[in-house]
Amino acid sequence: MTTIEQGALRKLIGTRNENGEVEYQLPIGDQRIALNPLIGKELQLIFHNEIRCCHCNRKTKKSYSQGFCYPCMQKLAQCDMCIMKPETCHYEQGTCREPSWGKSHCMVPHYVYLANTSGLKVGITRHTQIPTRWIDQGATQALPIFKVSNRLQSGLVETALAEFISDKTRAC
Ligand SMILES: [Zn+2]
Repeated sequence: MTTIEQGALRKLIGTRNENGEVEYQLPIGDQRIALNPLIGKELQLIFHNEIRCCHCNRKTKKSYSQGFCYPCMQKLAQCDMCIMKPETCHYEQGTCREPSWGKSHCMVPHYVYLANTSGLKVGITRHTQIPTRWIDQGATQALPIFKVSNRLQSGLVETALAEFISDKTRAC
């Protein structure tokens, strides 16, 4: 059977089914292609030389910060440096680029966790991203060890733990 879908590619979606297995779906345009049934089969992707911003959909020559156009990369809170360094979250100083986004994404409970991927890692994630974050990282085991009330605190705990665990994986 041949299926032809056309549209913008989005980040792979991984969900855990009732058997504890991860089911992957590839978003293409408005469609979601179930990938598990395609294991062992041939799959062809054709790039049409068009990159669009994953936020505003404008055409861009290059994508920044995992899929944004340059203006969005400059403007959006999710593209700010503090996303890579949660211990530098500056929401409380009143300088967040998008306070409403910061309020819903950073000023909410976060977990600091240990995950077993290729080795032991310490990471942080929003409470709504468990277990998505672990599936994305390919973790075979994960253990939340602290629940804190915002992103800044999770970053500070992570930084303190990094003295004992070298490898880190950071998340939004
Ligand atoms: Zn944009």
